[in-house]
Amino acid sequence: VSAIDEVTAELARLPGIGRKTATRLTYFLLKQPKSALERLAGAIVALGTRISTCSICGNWSETDPCDICADGRRDAGTVCVVEEASDIGAIERSGEYRGVYHVLGGHISPLDGVGPEDLRIEALRGRVANGSSVREVILATNASMEGEVTATYVRRVLEPQGVRVSRIALGLPVGGDLEYADGLTIARALAARREMAS
Ligand SMILES: [Zn+2]
Repeated sequence: VSAIDEVTAELARLPGIGRKTATRLTYFLLKQPKSALERLAGAIVALGTRISTCSICGNWSETDPCDICADGRRDAGTVCVVEEASDIGAIERSGEYRGVYHVLGGHISPLDGVGPEDLRIEALRGRVANGSSVREVILATNASMEGEVTATYVRRVLEPQGVRVSRIALGLPVGGDLEYADGLTIARALAARREMAS
């Protein structure tokens, strides 16, 4: 297999990139200086060698615990639950949130064969178990049907722990991912969060 075919095949495996785009990208890369190709290849290799997940919150990080969990100025008593690690960046950009996070790793979706046991829900229960300093859990799963089902499930799991469980106000467009919401929208959704009724 030629290097051109190999790179094209690898790029075509990425989400949102079809065969045609992969071919175009490969030919674009061919025109780049060798140093630029080495930089790109090195950065991709570093994703696999330098980045792992934070053992507390599940965020991608070069350190364990991650910068957010290790930051003593953050309020460890407030835990914001998100579907994906990429949602953390979106909430951080709002500049309004000073608590910590918990990454579930997806949402409950029976059609895709994803059940509660496939998500980091037990780890969350462990974090807020009686005696921990967590006062409030903010459910910031997406405004999709799966996000709602997941929020309801997590609320039920946490109920016996006696912790306050709230849901961000869904001014977000239905089905819209947190990741694509702007900072102001997220700041408002956080400020207007409501306690979830049991
Ligand atoms: Zn962390």
